[in-house]
Amino acid sequence: MIAAVAGGVGGARMLRALCSVVDPAELTAVVNTGDDVVLHGLHVSPDVDTVVYTLGGAANPDTGWGRVGETWEAMAELRALSGGRLSWFNLGDRDLGTHLYRTARLAEGAGLGQVTAEIAARFGVATRVLPMSDDPVETRVTLAGGEEVGFQEYFVGRGHQVQVSAVRFAGVESARAGPGVLEALSEADAIVICPSNPVVSVAPVLAVPGVGEVVARRRERVVAVSPIIAGRALKGPADRLLAELGHEPSVVGIARLWSPWAATLVVDVADAGSAPAVEAAGVRCVVAPTVMSGPEESAGLARTVLRSGVAA
Ligand code: GDP
Ligand code: CA
Repeated sequence: MIAAVAGGVGGARMLRALCSVVDPAELTAVVNTGDDVVLHGLHVSPDVDTVVYTLGGAANPDTGWGRVGETWEAMAELRALSGGRLSWFNLGDRDLGTHLYRTARLAEGAGLGQVTAEIAARFGVATRVLPMSDDPVETRVTLAGGEEVGFQEYFVGRGHQVQVSAVRFAGVESARAGPGVLEALSEADAIVICPSNPVVSVAPVLAVPGVGEVVARRRERVVAVSPIIAGRALKGPADRLLAELGHEPSVVGIARLWSPWAATLVVDVADAGSAPAVEAAGVRCVVAPTVMSGPEESAGLARTVLRSGVAA
């Protein structure tokens, strides 16, 4: 059994890659819910949905999030009615079905983990997709001017173009790990920290009481893949967020960040020169191609990751 900690797009791609080299039923994904947001009364779980859609072969391959073959009739109507005021967060018609279902089931008293299992089953996903917690945890971002906003307001509303001075995970202190999460991490032969945004996708998962502790206890079997390549994120604000919060936006910064939790870090061949500095941070460094540009490249990375983790 393999366990993996994942955020949205980068995490989902890593999970899909792992599924191409191991039995998907042998993989458990522990997914960030700090990005979850209630919009128009609907509970939206962006990272969980990205993982489920991707593993179910139903994700939009161009964006990495949302559904393939999506239509946008409801959004167009909402935009027309509100003059754009209420349509800043794009929810496609098919995607809305997921959020309607999740919201209805939560109102009936089902937990987020249970509802996620139901949605994953509809997409034929054999991998267990576990939200990090059934309890609400809200990633909140303090902007350089001092104003604090919700994660989606920062990421989507402001297009992550504003400077950030702090990030916190509201509610995390009292959140309990989701059903099955601690067991999966305790029993896994290897734990993969996916190349997701370290600050806003991986950190909230590790901040859930018990989760970070189990991962740290199993450090020798934990392999992280750097989302930073040659000092840059492939997509999104991970590089800027690291720098703004005082971390070096490099594989060395990632090694320092994950050293309490991961014994091994896989860095891209572009960062081969930084291997000694990664090792100086107390983390074994594996150099390999890490850009998941296609199925072959992705499978190659997955094999590297599993070799590095299980052999440890
Ligand atoms: P989000 O939830 O949609 O923001 O997605 P993630 O939390 O997964 O974060 C995106 C991160 O994944 C960025 O920092 C990217 O650099 C990283 N990423 C995406 N694709 C790849 C890839 O193929 N290889 C590596 N190494 N990192 C990737
Ligand atoms: Ca996310």
